[in-house]
Amino acid sequence: MTHPFETFRYCPQCGSALFGHHDLRSNMCRQCGFLFYANCASAVAAVITDSEKRILLCTRAEEPQKGMLDLPGGFVEFDETAEEAVRRELHEELGIEVHDVCYLFSRPNRYTYSGYTVHTLDLFFRVTVDDLGDICCADDVKEARFFSANDIDFSMIGFDSMKTALRKVIDEGLI
Ligand SMILES: [Zn+2]
Repeated sequence: MTHPFETFRYCPQCGSALFGHHDLRSNMCRQCGFLFYANCASAVAAVITDSEKRILLCTRAEEPQKGMLDLPGGFVEFDETAEEAVRRELHEELGIEVHDVCYLFSRPNRYTYSGYTVHTLDLFFRVTVDDLGDICCADDVKEARFFSANDIDFSMIGFDSMKTALRKVIDEGLI
């Protein structure tokens, strides 16, 4: 496992090289005393179904996991609620307006981009959409289509957290 701090050689506050391990989630600078924590980031993912209880999966347009299947969603912005993040991401990625947003469960995940691994806590929501005919892919989504539970090729799901979450959603009848 890549630790987030493996990519940091210098103190981000004073630039000293005397910056090293302190505990599991923090590095300390022995020059200025700065203690830098790598906290996990919040992310959201939406379980959207059609009238036949098929699940909407998106093909990722960008790295990481480019070309693989994923649930729509993304990182929560500063000062944003998770529910607001779901609405914003679905508007940005699929051009759709969301009706109800209902929290399901969470899964830890790792998201490596630009040589830096972000530990995330993915929050899964069941989402009701006003009009599925409005779906128009943009942003980091290349394509989106509905899959019956039996037709999902789990080897094409990019992130492990998404695989286990989708299995839970299907096995526990959360759709
Ligand atoms: Zn320092």
